[in-house]
Amino acid sequence: MIIVLKTQTPEKGIEEIRNRVLMLGCQIHESKGVNYHIMGLVGETSNIDPDSLKANPNVEKLIRVQEPYKMVNRLFHPDDTAITVKGQTIGGGSFAVIAGPCSVESEEQIVGIAEDVKKAGAGFLRGGAFKPRSSPYSFQGMREEGLDLLKIASEKTGLPIVTELMSTAHLDTFIENVDVIQIGARNMQNFELLKEIGQTNKPILLKRGLSATIEELLMAAEYVVAAGNKNVILCERGIRTFENYTRNTLDLSAIPVIKKLSHLPVIVDPSHASGLWWLVEPMAKAALVVGADGVMIEVHNDPVNAKCDGQQSIKPERFSELMENLKQLAVIQNKVMH
Ligand code: PEP
Ligand code: MN
Repeated sequence: MIIVLKTQTPEKGIEEIRNRVLMLGCQIHESKGVNYHIMGLVGETSNIDPDSLKANPNVEKLIRVQEPYKMVNRLFHPDDTAITVKGQTIGGGSFAVIAGPCSVESEEQIVGIAEDVKKAGAGFLRGGAFKPRSSPYSFQGMREEGLDLLKIASEKTGLPIVTELMSTAHLDTFIENVDVIQIGARNMQNFELLKEIGQTNKPILLKRGLSATIEELLMAAEYVVAAGNKNVILCERGIRTFENYTRNTLDLSAIPVIKKLSHLPVIVDPSHASGLWWLVEPMAKAALVVGADGVMIEVHNDPVNAKCDGQQSIKPERFSELMENLKQLAVIQNKVMH
């Protein structure tokens, strides 16, 4: 339930409503804009008598929220959420670019790629240290050593680090060393993991599950936000369909849909969505045009010999060209690219 307060409501009147709602066992998620002040209620809203609230002269109107997700619902927070990490913003009118290899493979590789993508204008460095591979016999990532190498690359370039967390066992290390914690598609519904990262204040990049609906993605984000962490960035990375020419099917319509339903920023990963390097550029451009707040792109200096996802990785030179094209499109779409 949402209480929309009259714009001129004095603090005393607001406090009165707050206390009443809290006494009835609800939690309040308040959001204030230039022309609105709303209280989003979660918890035991059935205890609330709508008629008595409506009788309060400071209440403009009451809205019942039909959707199961509340805190991430745009009704609870009409303005876009923007998340800033080390001076780089995702959401709220900017277009963020996260780039780097699928996996960290060596110091030379990650530092070299980080320098290249930084020069081309990327704002964040990606690179998997702990890799969720379909086969236990495939390269599993450099693990802790990979995190150390990401740090070296980040210190050299100033790019914040985005990397995937798979287990709560590594949470403390991630809190200390990582700037944005990625939760991969395979863990989107690992609810215990979501609750744990919800208790941190690290920005979370939450990727859409392999076969997850938009509502399931928003419910996964709700777990994180409800646990206290409001810094969630959603990521459309393609879903499973009957089409098998591409690795997944990029659900571009999810972007405007999510923008309508939620205030959280949403980016697109055209690399995992398509699985083909030559589709990355057109899909990244499409993502910007349909309103995404950014893209995450796999870049590798030597895709043929990459330990993971070489087929969908673009070389630094191609990434640089893509950035030039995105910058031009950003102007037309009124998005800020740094
Ligand atoms: C990744 O970004 O490295 C990754 C494994 O992606 P996803 O979880 O979307 O498959
Ligand atoms: Mn990958």
